[in-house]
Amino acid sequence: MIPQHNALQILRKPRIALLATGGTIAGTAGSATDTRDYTAGQLGPAALLAAVPQLAELARIDATQIFSVDSKDMTPQHWLVLSRRVQRLMDDPAVDGIVITHGTDTLEETACFLNVTVATTKPVVMTAAMRPATALSADGPLNLYQAVELACRPAAARSGVLAVVGDRILPAAALAKRHPSAVDAFSFEGALTTLASDAALHALAPSRYSRVVLPDELQHLPPVELLTVAAGSSPALASAVARALARAQLLNGAAGLVLALPGNASLPEAWRPALEELPNAVPVVLASRCGGGVRRHHGNAPANWLDAGALDPLKARVRLIAGLGAGLRGARLRRWFERA
Ligand code: ASP
Repeated sequence: MIPQHNALQILRKPRIALLATGGTIAGTAGSATDTRDYTAGQLGPAALLAAVPQLAELARIDATQIFSVDSKDMTPQHWLVLSRRVQRLMDDPAVDGIVITHGTDTLEETACFLNVTVATTKPVVMTAAMRPATALSADGPLNLYQAVELACRPAAARSGVLAVVGDRILPAAALAKRHPSAVDAFSFEGALTTLASDAALHALAPSRYSRVVLPDELQHLPPVELLTVAAGSSPALASAVARALARAQLLNGAAGLVLALPGNASLPEAWRPALEELPNAVPVVLASRCGGGVRRHHGNAPANWLDAGALDPLKARVRLIAGLGAGLRGARLRRWFERA
């Protein structure tokens, strides 16, 4: 028989839904010393949970394997499926919070997509690892523990989608992988420690101030390409992409282009004619290779050119995909970027 105080504790434990998507956190290698030649996404959620028995003291966890991919292979189609599943779980009164395990490579893109497409007042926390589950000092188990701990805190619901990596809490907008192999792979700018108080969590990021609603009938998110412009990059690249996007727009009803440009999103003159050929229906977002913070200055630019504002090129692309997927066009799409 369960002693009465334990029974009460069990009743009060938050109910957390765990969605596993693969990544290195579920990766395995042939030996414990191998942190390089491993395969991501090998272990199921039961194995991830079994590695952290202490989780049972924090929460009741219902785990589901939704995908099993190395996050380099994650696509907007995965985001759409994941976003809808997260929304369904968040709408379930029996669920108190969600933890999503994911690869680090594209963690920031998935986090940003969920951040602008899921409407909820409950915590959504993503986590990942740089070392496979089989490694000496694997970082996944502690990250997972800290992610569940955070998802159990109502204060974590106020700043949109959060991620726990490397003993830090980061809001989706600040997530940026900056190292290919170190355990501290993410930029710490805008991060809190996992010991942060509720007040610090509240102040972490504006609550979900701008969000779009994806129509139920949407089957595929519109194609949006990202081109990085280097000194002397051939405008032939822009022409080829412009032609492909014009065709994609006709086929899908929407398409878009994000350019990662030098400095304050400055477009090389050689690229302008190719971009001006793009139909008005294909928006072009000008972002900075410096990582965001573009001053809005394109007063005489074609009507379909938008500024990424504070967003880096990857996040600008996610925002454009979400906005187009939600049916925003023209002035409404421009406003969507101005709110970023
Ligand atoms: N390639 C892996 C992934 O993103 C890297 C990781 O998870 O750290 O799935």
